[in-house]
Amino acid sequence: MRQKVRKSFLYLSALLFPVTLNYFSPYVSIDGAFLGIVSGSVIVFGLLFVSALFLGRAWCAWLCPAGGISAFAQTINAKTVPVKRLKYVRYGIFTVWLSILILGFVLAGGIKGVNPLHLTDTGFSVDEPIKYLMYYLVVFTWLGLSFWLGKRGACHAICWMSPFLVAGTWLGQKLHLPQLKIKSDPNLCINCKQCTKVCPMSIMVHEELMQGVISNTDCIRCAECVDACPKSVLRLNIH
Ligand code: SF4
Ligand code: SF4
Ligand code: SF4
Repeated sequence: MRQKVRKSFLYLSALLFPVTLNYFSPYVSIDGAFLGIVSGSVIVFGLLFVSALFLGRAWCAWLCPAGGISAFAQTINAKTVPVKRLKYVRYGIFTVWLSILILGFVLAGGIKGVNPLHLTDTGFSVDEPIKYLMYYLVVFTWLGLSFWLGKRGACHAICWMSPFLVAGTWLGQKLHLPQLKIKSDPNLCINCKQCTKVCPMSIMVHEELMQGVISNTDCIRCAECVDACPKSVLRLNIH
């Protein structure tokens, strides 16, 4: 039941992507930066960071539109992905994007204003033909990479939002803030590896659970592992 509800949220969010695309757009954030404007996407990236302090990467599992596209792609290719190698690509892209963003604000002479609707005057992101092109480019890139690489392949390889979520999750853990986490009772585990098999983030759950908690910053708090475990070893709770 929990997984049906979660996936319903994800697919609904994916259907609304033509409305919300600009609020996650690296292009919109850079365009705004060169004008000294804090755009909607910069605000959203900041909110994702703050949410991760307490909820970890639950955004990825429950609400992200691109996560919904990834979840659909996983029904076609559920292969485990080489997480570590893809991380280098993702952080490379993120570093270039962040550098350009900062450069934009510097060249603009600092922050001159805040406009959540920058390049989204109607409130609807995809509202003219050229934006349809951009929308389909994003969707087909996401689908293509995930079909090719496997489970949430595009999330691992190119997501420019996940570093904010990873940083928030990591900081929340370091500050010992109450955070949504997967806790475990290793003594009950029969090592059937069902949890690892269903994990959409290619985490070796059966190994990580031995520490009593999944502290891996790739964990998106989807609770697939919890619901698949035959021995109730795992729990999704705020700790
Ligand atoms: S990794 Fe990025 S695209 Fe994937 S679900 Fe998380 S925020 Fe969305
Ligand atoms: S599914 Fe449960 S019993 Fe099986 S390895 Fe994972 S935690 Fe252990
Ligand atoms: S470890 Fe469990 S909660 Fe975390 S991503 Fe994997 S299946 Fe989801």
